[in-house]
Amino acid sequence: MSAISTDVLVLGAGPGGAMAALFLHKEGVDCVVVDKAVFPRDKICGDALSGKVVEVLNRYDRALTDKLALRKESLPCWGVTFVAPDLEALSIPFQLSGNGQERERAPGFISRRMDFDNFLVDEVRGKDGIRLMEGCEIKSFERNADGYLFTAADGTTIQARMVIVADGAHSRFAKEVAGIEVEKEHYCAGVRAYYEGVEGIADGNYIELHFLKDLLPGYFWIFPLPDGGANVGLGIRSDYASKRRINLRKELPELIKRYPQLQERFKNARLTDEIRGYGLPLGSKKRPLSGDHYLLVGDAASLIDPFTGEGIGNAMLSGMLAAQQAVKAVQAGRFDAAFQQPYDQAIFRRLWPELKLSYRMQRLVNYPWLFNFVVRKANRNRVLRETITVMFEDIDLRDRLRKPSFYFQLLFSGKT
Ligand SMILES: Cc1cc2nc3c(=O)[nH]c(=O)nc-3n(C[C@H](O)[C@H](O)[C@H](O)COP(=O)(O)OP(=O)(O)OC[C@H]3O[C@@H](n4cnc5c(N)ncnc54)[C@H](O)[C@@H]3O)c2cc1C
Repeated sequence: MSAISTDVLVLGAGPGGAMAALFLHKEGVDCVVVDKAVFPRDKICGDALSGKVVEVLNRYDRALTDKLALRKESLPCWGVTFVAPDLEALSIPFQLSGNGQERERAPGFISRRMDFDNFLVDEVRGKDGIRLMEGCEIKSFERNADGYLFTAADGTTIQARMVIVADGAHSRFAKEVAGIEVEKEHYCAGVRAYYEGVEGIADGNYIELHFLKDLLPGYFWIFPLPDGGANVGLGIRSDYASKRRINLRKELPELIKRYPQLQERFKNARLTDEIRGYGLPLGSKKRPLSGDHYLLVGDAASLIDPFTGEGIGNAMLSGMLAAQQAVKAVQAGRFDAAFQQPYDQAIFRRLWPELKLSYRMQRLVNYPWLFNFVVRKANRNRVLRETITVMFEDIDLRDRLRKPSFYFQLLFSGKT
């Protein structure tokens, strides 16, 4: 039991917290990082690391991205397959980058969170100026004249002038101090299962999103894993799950039985772990992300993409931006809410266009006939296929998907 005092406390060492600590270190600001877990630890997730993860790692240190790419625990992902409600599949390769160049390296990876989060924490470990406290569960906090006083389960106290709150989807601080409540129409329920022996995984380790008609607007996924296994799961907005009384844990094996094409692929598959669930706080609504002496990061800030469910990249990006804001606060000796406002602005400038668009795309999935139509057309039209490939990188192009003119052009475009 001890009493610690620090300028910056990072609460949580998941991807958001780990990145915040690393960027603070890069800027020469000391911090304390606490996590209730001892790493390596599991986190319920699809385990897909998007291009944004790579982008943030590159901004920290390109050598770390190289290290990630070379690990046997990282599987390079070369494309995505969408399965429309009428079961027609559309595969989008990632071979070409947004500017039409052949890629030398896959833009994203799949890595079990047990491995990936530990990879980041390993980078944090042993850095001068970062005090990492694993197995340290914060049980309570109180505001005082100097910031916040945190008390851990073993009675250790940590007085912080500034706290970067990165304790995930069930953050008590985000709820009690920032007033972030679970709103079911901006929240998703998800379950994950690890399987071995799933057949029919495409060359290039494509991730697969199956928009099954029984699960719309949610989806079922199959993501290949480095050891030959697969991360299989499903996610659906919590308001739909409640209204339809869907028990996701039961629904996952049921769906596999109900759809013959899945049944065939899982006929020799075996579950290697329990089916586990966790919440996804979606970034489909703008919320305040900072206040006196604190900044919210990642899931604690509800920044998950409402269409894809991707949250690791946004957690890391917000961790980076929070560290930059915290550095300014420490240098200026200012921790008041007004001084933290540029953090909210930086997050929304960078993320709001894509979060807003993803929210619209989430609603588009409510029109299965439209989804079927786009997939069918794209499979017969090379130009459209290439456009969709580039859309994954270019937010302005993706924006075309919500405009009626896009569908008129599709209707009248010929085969190429
Ligand atoms: C089913 C499912 C599938 C998903 N699939 C994907 C995917 O494929 N790709 C993707 O990009 N995103 C995916 N996500 C989202 C992704 O998992 C999260 O967005 C991401 O983990 C957020 O990172 P974080 O650092 O904010 O929080 P977390 O990763 O949750 O880390 C929070 C940390 O805080 C610690 N902590 C919590 N409370 C305390 C406390 N009181 N004291 C001390 N420490 C504490 C925890 O131990 C944990 O280590 C998925 C989520 C779910 C639920």
